[in-house]
Amino acid sequence: MISANTRTAAVHAGRRDLGELGVHVPPIDLSSTYPLPDLVKGGESYDALAGGDPPPADGSLVYQRLWNPTVARFETGLAELEGTGEAVAFASGMAAFTACLLASVAAGTPHIVAVRPLYGGSDHLLATGLLGTAVSWAYPEEIETALRPDTGLVVVETPANPDLRLLDLADVKRRAGDVAVLVDNTFATPVLQRPAEHGADLVLHSATKFLGGHGDVVAGVVACGGEWARRLRPIRAITGGLLHPWAAYMLHRGLQTLPVRVHAAQEGALKLANRLAAHPAVTKVHYPGLAECDPHGLVGRQMAGPGAVLSFEVDGGFERALQVASRCRLITRAVSLGGVDTLIQHPASLTHRPVTEDAKPVAGLLRVSVGLEDPDDLWADLSHALAD
Ligand SMILES: *Cc1c(COP(=O)(O)O)cnc(C)c1O
Repeated sequence: MISANTRTAAVHAGRRDLGELGVHVPPIDLSSTYPLPDLVKGGESYDALAGGDPPPADGSLVYQRLWNPTVARFETGLAELEGTGEAVAFASGMAAFTACLLASVAAGTPHIVAVRPLYGGSDHLLATGLLGTAVSWAYPEEIETALRPDTGLVVVETPANPDLRLLDLADVKRRAGDVAVLVDNTFATPVLQRPAEHGADLVLHSATKFLGGHGDVVAGVVACGGEWARRLRPIRAITGGLLHPWAAYMLHRGLQTLPVRVHAAQEGALKLANRLAAHPAVTKVHYPGLAECDPHGLVGRQMAGPGAVLSFEVDGGFERALQVASRCRLITRAVSLGGVDTLIQHPASLTHRPVTEDAKPVAGLLRVSVGLEDPDDLWADLSHALAD
């Protein structure tokens, strides 16, 4: 069931002042710069914004890199859905993750404890240490022993990419102690999981995926409390990884249908997962909706549902996986996920290509992001692709 509250919040979040403004949909503010009628007050606005605070009530917004009302609306909407006080939006999921890592480095805590598997790009960024971070890879039960005095973040993803493994977030938080926990919530969305309710300090999204939902926006966002927002905004302003207001408008519109889209796609994913699990050519299905993939009973407790992404393994490794993917006609071969149309991709050769050998997904694994098509049509395509 879709929670009535989530559906209502998704439709109205970040829009409650529209009646007062006399409009039905949010205005889009594309200004790159803003007039400064009073230069002294303008300077004060600049200081507030550059320090990560919202604009003073009667102050100028100064410059788009410091603040944009259309972006702020989307942030307000997402923060409400995630149950965090605030959110800070970025040009991409990777720009959002970069800002979180830079905040950790800037605080003198460059050490990151990370639980694999992570999104391939996040894994690569941590593994290269490009931003001055040092990483310790840990299994969940090793988090405490991996912590150091200079650890700034514990980074996890659940459901994880690409094997849909689930992590108990309350357990991660307990093990992290005083260290901030960052949860990549891209796969679950706030419709199915609100990590802040389980202790997460930073909730990261590649908004490119379900939040946008139509494959036409690249964006990222971090939902967090006010203190973290005040650390992240100056980093966004300095490094310039901005979300464009037009993209923010599209994302904010996407939030309105997010619960309906996620639940409809999830229904299709559940059907496909069950049919794949019974197919003789499939050796393993990874999907949180299958009992064996959720040994700790997190679906129903931490997650409201298993989501719309699944992966499965075929015998015959790399070659056979590529063959199955290439036989799909309705399902598009493409990376990314969370859109209205169903996509299939081969993580070992695509999304997880930059990941080191020891953390590479198995060669015969294919990932499917289930969209809104009729599940019977999707199954006809997949079963045809799996036929000998
Ligand atoms: C796509 C993705 C990212 C990166 O986001 P971009 O918007 O592509 O920069 C991070 N985490 C997860 C789980 C993703 O799927």
